[in-house]
Amino acid sequence: MTLSQLPELPPPPPAARIAELAAELADLAPIQTAAELERLSRDFYAYSPVLSPLLADRRAQLAVRASNLEQVRRVASACARLQVPLTLRGAGTGNYGQCVPLQGGLVLDLTGLKHLRSLDPASGELVAEPGCLLADLDRQLAIHGRALRLAPSTYRTATLGGFIAGGAGGIGSLRWGFLRDPGNLLGLEVMTVEPEPRLLQLDATASQPLNHAYGTNGILTALRVPTCEAVAWQQLVLGFDDWTRALAALQGLASSDLLLNNVTLLAAPLAAAMPWPAGCPAPTAAEHRLLLLAAPESLADHPQLLGAWGGELLWQEAQAASRGLPLRELCWNHTTLHWRGPRPDWTYLQLLLPPDPRPLLAALQQRWGDDLLWHLEAVRQHGEVRLSALPLLRFTGPEALTALIEQCRDLGALVFDPHQVTVEEGGLGGIDAAQVAAKALYDPAGLLNPGKLRGWLERPQSGGSD
Ligand SMILES: Cc1cc2nc3c(=O)[nH]c(=O)nc-3n(C[C@H](O)[C@H](O)[C@H](O)COP(=O)(O)OP(=O)(O)OC[C@H]3O[C@@H](n4cnc5c(N)ncnc54)[C@H](O)[C@@H]3O)c2cc1C
Repeated sequence: MTLSQLPELPPPPPAARIAELAAELADLAPIQTAAELERLSRDFYAYSPVLSPLLADRRAQLAVRASNLEQVRRVASACARLQVPLTLRGAGTGNYGQCVPLQGGLVLDLTGLKHLRSLDPASGELVAEPGCLLADLDRQLAIHGRALRLAPSTYRTATLGGFIAGGAGGIGSLRWGFLRDPGNLLGLEVMTVEPEPRLLQLDATASQPLNHAYGTNGILTALRVPTCEAVAWQQLVLGFDDWTRALAALQGLASSDLLLNNVTLLAAPLAAAMPWPAGCPAPTAAEHRLLLLAAPESLADHPQLLGAWGGELLWQEAQAASRGLPLRELCWNHTTLHWRGPRPDWTYLQLLLPPDPRPLLAALQQRWGDDLLWHLEAVRQHGEVRLSALPLLRFTGPEALTALIEQCRDLGALVFDPHQVTVEEGGLGGIDAAQVAAKALYDPAGLLNPGKLRGWLERPQSGGSD
């Protein structure tokens, strides 16, 4: 699929069938007002000028907010019997159009399923319902000295189900890798979409095909995830007047044995545009900034380490004491959010850089100059420290964007293309047969989030409605 294309899908179901569905679910107060359907059919895809026009008119015909398993079961059964597409929704903060219904039908809002079912005091494993907000879960974990391993920068608004189904990683990825790395999802409870829906308990291996599948191959009704010991993270901001030194500091700190939860590097123009927390000095125009979340006991080592790279410690404060936005909300795609607010003519990319990123950074800088601004995040992938990049790009048209993506690939980067709607183009790169097989098992009629799983659309023996 090239930029500016959506998969070909059958038309949305006829109004009479939607009316029949609404009548069957009448006691669940189905939503049918245009404004609400519009709201429940959107996420943050507007960061992409390619997706914006393509998805603008894609809308649910009906929406239901479930708050217990029985309601989910009834919706799944009714959609299966009436052959109505079913798109699942958490908080709707995805930025790849993940929960935009491409083929109309029903949107099922799962934010009402929000119980922490259990927390094992010995292992720290938790089982929680998909609509739990990540920040709420963390508050409940903190009472037991535990914390979530991984969180997106949308931690305050995003749900656990949406993070596993639609997210990738974020804060904590320097310690724990990405969500799909083994060990970050331990099990799932899944409701199938069939006339008689089944409620299944999947172990870690069986859960993996549903991890980052955009809700195309099963309704997640409970998730088992690991937790870690809670740490009272300190926030630090360091200034650098030299990009090469700042990059060396990012890589050096990220591969040190200091206990760090996140390290972000923002090129000077981006740093100048961020809403810094109260008490943190505003940057000068030429100052690159390194943002750290560090364990308190590791702080004593920083002055010596920072001296080696020429950075200056400008500010530090406990995350819990933050006034204004915490640093957590100046990194990952929050940087994109803050930059684009007053500059809607900019867009972005998401990349995993090759082990030595310097040739790529130099080549792209030479080709794109001030139209490409660097935002780097240190992560761990398969045990190795790597750099993830979310550069901001002045959008001059789809051709330039395509050229940039091709150049990034040629230079050895993995591109998680946020201008595409499928699971494959947005993340995994290729078709994962296990994801397609799971869809055949748990959504045999192909009703879940139609059009988002390319492997299903291109499967050899087509028979579903997708
Ligand atoms: C400013 C900003 C910053 C962001 N930062 C990050 C980041 O650091 N890391 C990151 O990974 N992402 C990030 N994101 C993307 C997004 O916020 C996260 O992935 C978030 O966890 C999604 O959760 P949600 O509840 O909003 O999910 P939604 O957007 O509602 O859904 C996401 C996907 O999951 C599916 N889904 C939802 N619930 C279920 C369920 N119960 N069963 C099956 N499928 C389901 C939906 O159909 C959809 O495909 C960011 C987005 C924005 C706008």
